[in-house]
Amino acid sequence: MSDAKKCANPTCSCIPTDKSKFCSPHCEATKGTVEIACQCGHPSCQGEALRA
Ligand SMILES: [Zn+2]
Ligand SMILES: [Zn+2]
Repeated sequence: MSDAKKCANPTCSCIPTDKSKFCSPHCEATKGTVEIACQCGHPSCQGEALRA
């Protein structure tokens, strides 16, 4: 099962902890905006661009 709920920020590939839909306040702040690449600051995510 790889149905883990990832961060609700489309450009983010992090898996939020707890019951949050976002992995970080940064991602929550991106609601309604479009990032080219997530900048939540998590090492495994930073610079991650949308993949085709
Ligand atoms: Zn991220
Ligand atoms: Zn995130």
